[in-house]
Amino acid sequence: MVKKPRGVADILPGETERWQYLEQVIRELTRVYGYREIRTPIFEFTELFQRGVGEDTDIVMKEMYSFRDRRGRSLTLRPEGTAGVVRAFIENGLHKWPQPVKLYYVGPMFRYDRPQTGRYRQFHQFGAEVFGTAEPVADAEVICLLMDFYARVGLRGLQLEINSVGCVSCRQALVAALREYFRGKTSGLCSHCLERVERNPLRILDCKEEGCRELLKEAPVPLDFLCGGCQSHFAAVQKELAACGVSFLVNGHLVRGLDYYTGTAFEVLVPGIGAQSAIGGGGRYDKLVETCGGPPTPGVGFAVGLERTLLALAAQGVELPGAAAPEVFVAFAGERAAGRVPAILRWLRAAGIATERDYSGRGLKGQLKQANKRAARWVVIVGEAELDRGNVSVRAMETGEQVEVPEVALVSWLKERLGQ
Ligand SMILES: [Zn+2]
Ligand SMILES: [Zn+2]
Repeated sequence: MVKKPRGVADILPGETERWQYLEQVIRELTRVYGYREIRTPIFEFTELFQRGVGEDTDIVMKEMYSFRDRRGRSLTLRPEGTAGVVRAFIENGLHKWPQPVKLYYVGPMFRYDRPQTGRYRQFHQFGAEVFGTAEPVADAEVICLLMDFYARVGLRGLQLEINSVGCVSCRQALVAALREYFRGKTSGLCSHCLERVERNPLRILDCKEEGCRELLKEAPVPLDFLCGGCQSHFAAVQKELAACGVSFLVNGHLVRGLDYYTGTAFEVLVPGIGAQSAIGGGGRYDKLVETCGGPPTPGVGFAVGLERTLLALAAQGVELPGAAAPEVFVAFAGERAAGRVPAILRWLRAAGIATERDYSGRGLKGQLKQANKRAARWVVIVGEAELDRGNVSVRAMETGEQVEVPEVALVSWLKERLGQ
């Protein structure tokens, strides 16, 4: 038997209902916030991620699923959602749409990471992006959407951390200071960060290696290098968040592991799911559209790991909807009655009533047992004597009460009682 590769998961009935519930919350929230869905390909040219995510990031250096197609072109399974959305934004001329353009996506992402609890090589993200406005209200709005998502699915005790990593101009001073700082401490750095000191010292800020993390405690932080424009933007984001009633903590050490972030960065932490407790985050990326070959267009967005969200929900004991029992079970006694069952099933199902039947030729008693096992609310019993009167029997499983209902009135009779 061929088993599944390491780090991927089968999502089975019982669990898929939880996924559908998350997706339902996502669709409802994005609707009221005015974000529209975009679906981009699972694979893109590798170069898109090298440019869009950044060559010196952990994702691009160590974690991409890249392969050659039959004509030798390098393709990569998307490791995150933003680069593909930005590519689609440019390629389809969405910069000509009325701005801002507010988009969301839900789907699988792929990273060759060490599998651990809640971390998979194929995992799923819900993300949102706002293009075409640099205003702090947009930063605050995406954060509100993110926090509302968590609240709506039932997560408690979340901590929102925010920071500003500065714009391109104030970042130069930061980069110089970081380079200076790490040049004197190269013996403590991992091999990747050793290369990053000269090439891209910013990426040392989100290295997960212990030695590098230790050195970071004393390292210069972006907040100390913000230019006037970035300072007032960050202050305005905080003011706006406060006005929305969203509480937050400023964490000067917070950076996101992607090259494209400028200005606001944020992360949501949840207690109780192990060492890496971030379940979502994002930030502003005002240079990304240009970097990917489009016209200058500011942007801000977030991504949420759905596996980790489910893990956090389980850790907090939040019950999500499970499998739904059939509303109606259709049973019968006798051959002539059996001939009526298919039509009755079709009427009920066409009316949107979840309806089940027996598949193994059991007698009436066996069918009723089956209905009980499946936890059906009502059993329609098709019997020959009733048929002669143009009726069927309907039994409420909870009370055992049974009445005869005209066959032609069955659908409306049930719908009324099911509250549909
Ligand atoms: Zn700046
Ligand atoms: Zn490192």
